[in-house]
This record gives sequence, C-alpha cells and structure tokens, in this order.
Amino acid sequence: MSDTDTIVIGCPECHRANRIAFAKIDQHPVCGACKARLIRGLPFELTVDNIRTHMNADMPLVIDFWAAWCGPCQQFSKVYEMVAAPFAERARFGSVNTEQQPTLAQAYGIRSLPTIAVYYRGEELARTQGAMPPQRFHSWLEQALDTTPFA
Ligand SMILES: [Zn+2]
Repeated sequence: MSDTDTIVIGCPECHRANRIAFAKIDQHPVCGACKARLIRGLPFELTVDNIRTHMNADMPLVIDFWAAWCGPCQQFSKVYEMVAAPFAERARFGSVNTEQQPTLAQAYGIRSLPTIAVYYRGEELARTQGAMPPQRFHSWLEQALDTTPFA
C-alpha cells in the first residue's frame, strides 16, 4: 500500500464507513460523523447491524467469538485486549457475543468457544479455537496478516 492510497474503515462507535489516507492512519484520524477516534486499539462489539461495515472495510477484521458462561473466553478476552493495542494500525478487533448474536454465530459456523478468526474484505484468512497466551496469539496474528497489505 502506498502513501497516496486511501482506505475505508468503520467507526468503532457509530459504525459509519470512513475513507482515510493510508499515510495518516497513525495520526489519530477521527470519524467524520461522530468524531470518535477511528483507531483506538480496543476491541468493540459487533452485531448483525454493524458487522457488514467492518467486514467490507479495507483493513483486516479480527473477531473473538465468545460467551459469558465460557471460562476460557474470559481468560482470552484479556489477552485479546492486550494484543489489540500493538496491532491497532494493522487490524480491527471485534467481539461477537454469541449468546446475544446467535445469527452471527451460525452464519460464521462457530462450534466451539472462544473462536478467533481473521477476515480481510469479507474473506476468512485464518481461524483458531481456544484461549492462548499473548505471545502465541501475537505470532498467530502475524502469520494470519501475512498475505495482506498490513503484514
Ligand atoms: Zn463514528
């Protein structure tokens, strides 16, 4: 990706699609609609109503499919948050509460929790199951992003 390219990413607050200059991704871009910071390095909730914007965006989308009753999910959510920060300019980090979003759990074929998957422009690049320590998640993610312009 060159400095003159623009990319479309979804706002983590109002979920509107925003077009920004790729070169300005590290300059705290804000949402044109709600003025929220577009790049925060924090996971945000995905629902049937907002997932399309982030799926179709020009930045890889990582999703943590979880549930409140799932112990390993609680454990992994801290790891997920921790690793989301250093990857803030390379991927979006979404979370799907599979109890509140059964339609999404079904649409993405989630059979075990937590499931972590990486999508780029709607295509699934990688998927793994079960909690893992930060270093392992970090390496897995590096590998998953390897074929994207965000490698
Ligand atoms: Zn917004």
